[in-house]
Amino acid sequence: MEKKKVFIIGGGFGGLSTFYSLRKNGSEIVDLALADSRETSLEKPSLPEVAFIGKPLNKVQIPLKSIIERNGGKYLNSEVKIVDPKSSEIEFLDGTKMTYDYLVIATGTVKDYEAMEGFNDYGYSVCDDVHASKLYDRMVKFEGGKIVIGAARTEWADHPDVKKLSAPCEGPVGEIMFMLDYALRQKAVRSKSTINVFSPGKIFFEDVGPKVHKSLEPVIKAQGINVSTSKSIKKIEKDHVEFEDGSSLESDFTIVIPPYAGTPFVKNSRIGDEKGFVMTDSQMRHTEYKNIFAVGDINAVTMPKLGHIAVIQGQVASSAILKDIKGDGEVLPFKPEIFCIMNRGGIDATMILSDYIYGGKTDITLNGPIAHMMKWGFDDFYFYTKGHMPPELMQNGLKKFLETLKK
Ligand SMILES: Cc1cc2nc3c(=O)[nH]c(=O)nc-3n(C[C@H](O)[C@H](O)[C@H](O)COP(=O)(O)OP(=O)(O)OC[C@H]3O[C@@H](n4cnc5c(N)ncnc54)[C@H](O)[C@@H]3O)c2cc1C
Repeated sequence: MEKKKVFIIGGGFGGLSTFYSLRKNGSEIVDLALADSRETSLEKPSLPEVAFIGKPLNKVQIPLKSIIERNGGKYLNSEVKIVDPKSSEIEFLDGTKMTYDYLVIATGTVKDYEAMEGFNDYGYSVCDDVHASKLYDRMVKFEGGKIVIGAARTEWADHPDVKKLSAPCEGPVGEIMFMLDYALRQKAVRSKSTINVFSPGKIFFEDVGPKVHKSLEPVIKAQGINVSTSKSIKKIEKDHVEFEDGSSLESDFTIVIPPYAGTPFVKNSRIGDEKGFVMTDSQMRHTEYKNIFAVGDINAVTMPKLGHIAVIQGQVASSAILKDIKGDGEVLPFKPEIFCIMNRGGIDATMILSDYIYGGKTDITLNGPIAHMMKWGFDDFYFYTKGHMPPELMQNGLKKFLETLKK
């Protein structure tokens, strides 16, 4: 059988998951190519550690060229400008063109810092290597004061079956507030500081259910962190933050997760919704172009935007592509769940596992050192194995352990 050309755009969680799944299960029937405008895959869940404990950047950046080539793929360090879905042709920024049999879009989203007035002058963030490093430099010099942390509101297109969350992912907000609180205590300046957290949602962490809230709220309170809800950020000033409802919070140090937006190439190629996200079915297949798939944050179905979900989607998409090519086999069912571990500084962390927003019954947290070890184990495994998930044996063990927490 002639090999089919599968082209993956983006080497983050979703792109690497798709690449490794296709490589493992279909190397004899697919030719794999992956393009990324970056030279490295960025392990974003570790960025709060860059910002608050000075983890070196090279411990969160996985070089793409060597891992793709070592695994038999072709790597292009290039930005894709546009795709013509009718002729199955990709054009790069430098004008080079390529064709594909299957396309997997795994570009993540644009973090729209520009949408927040005053951010460039007074705002800090943690969503990429540049901002996490800048935040670390500010932390080193910070000697206490008024701190405001939160996520900006993201606007989504209407899709009847997709729940619109006010913020794409509030896990990083939780991690920032806990790690900052811990860092200030270590510096003995916590008593000189206030931490105010805002959420655009009616409740903070609107993507999980009541059991998680019941467990998390006392932990937040115990740290002296104040939370305000239904607050959409309007403007960041030197000494305060303004909200759309006319209220404001005094702030010497403002840290924000910006609104998310679709990538320009999806918009240019006219394959997305009006916000630039790609709508798919449950196999991650484009609703109009059957040889195009989208996984990870760029997929309109992905809510909240989580690496854990991007990995699951990569596995689902690759099983669908292989079934197409072979004409038989199983397409993995898409069963999203929220799985996130927030480092709380020192040896503490909070793990959340919930499928509540998808109508499921799982809604659990685990607070303490075991959750911290899980985070440390997962992040290091992912980094040192260059983007692989822990083996099935370990994952099954973890699932069994989590089952006991449900009881
Ligand atoms: C601070 C922080 C902490 C987080 N913590 C967690 C956590 O604990 N658990 C969790 O599950 N999730 C977490 N997330 C969310 C998680 O990082 C994202 O959901 C995940 O990275 C999405 O994966 P992705 O593959 O869709 O996109 P990305 O990881 O963003 O990768 C997209 C890639 O596509 C490339 N690209 C984009 N456009 C083009 C183009 N036109 N041409 C070529 N290449 C292109 C980019 O350079 C990038 O490398 C966190 C996010 C942040 C910001």
